[in-house]
Amino acid sequence: MARIIVVTSGKGGVGKTTVTANLGVCLSELGSKVLLIDADTGLRNLDLMLGLENRIVFNCFDFLDGKCTIEQTLVRDKQTDGDLLLLSLTKNGEERSISEDEMKDIVLKVSDKFDYILIDSPAGVEEGFRIAIAAAKEALVVITPELASIRDADKVIGLLLSKSIPQEKINLVINRVRPEMVQRNNMISVDDIVDILSADIIGVIPEDKNIIISTNRGEPIVKDKGKSLISQSLKDTANRIGGKKVPFLDLESNWIKRLFFKRQRS
Ligand code: ADP
Ligand code: MG
Repeated sequence: MARIIVVTSGKGGVGKTTVTANLGVCLSELGSKVLLIDADTGLRNLDLMLGLENRIVFNCFDFLDGKCTIEQTLVRDKQTDGDLLLLSLTKNGEERSISEDEMKDIVLKVSDKFDYILIDSPAGVEEGFRIAIAAAKEALVVITPELASIRDADKVIGLLLSKSIPQEKINLVINRVRPEMVQRNNMISVDDIVDILSADIIGVIPEDKNIIISTNRGEPIVKDKGKSLISQSLKDTANRIGGKKVPFLDLESNWIKRLFFKRQRS
């Protein structure tokens, strides 16, 4: 049975799709069989980030309508050295959306074929979010060091808990951290993050403008094999998800230390 992990946030544009695509590549290169499910039915872009947009022939509606098997809906990423596949829940122009039960059925049908199923969810906490989390047993909550993102994540964590995802299965990925802002003490107040810190931090990903180039090319940034800080931090995050104890990079530990230090004082 696969570990079924939803990647979510509440606030849009914080990096869910970027994190999903890159963690998918890392986990598969570490030897796991990985399925990525694009549950962002509004803005489908996981396929673009992986350079797979022209390879999707069938989507889940074709399967639900009996036009193909579930296996035919899965697109293999041939650029990755491991087993990485993508399932899109929609196609451009499609108005329909699947139900929570259909989502659960689809995930159940494929879960014995994979070690990990990562589900990329849409922004917000409405219908699309509920469908994305319907089958999940764990969650990665992506935040950026901004108040709006942290407040939304807090709401999302509450909803995940109410959907029976236990607290120890909810981990935070803090994205777009800028070390120079940390040093200048310009980052968000810790008072606002304390509640959310009741979930463990599993990854801290720096801001890197090269993401734009990698997205445009359809090549996740981790394809540079850990040569950049961002790529290393994503790889470390994948290893931690796999259960390894990987120390945080300097950038990360400085940030976390500061966070805890301020928390103790307050
Ligand atoms: P979401 O899926 O949460 O809406 P995306 O993954 O689409 O977010 O990212 C939103 C934007 O932020 C994209 O333009 C992406 O390239 C950029 N981005 C994401 N993570 C980083 C990062 N660590 N450094 C710089 N830009 C990033
Ligand atoms: Mg997205």
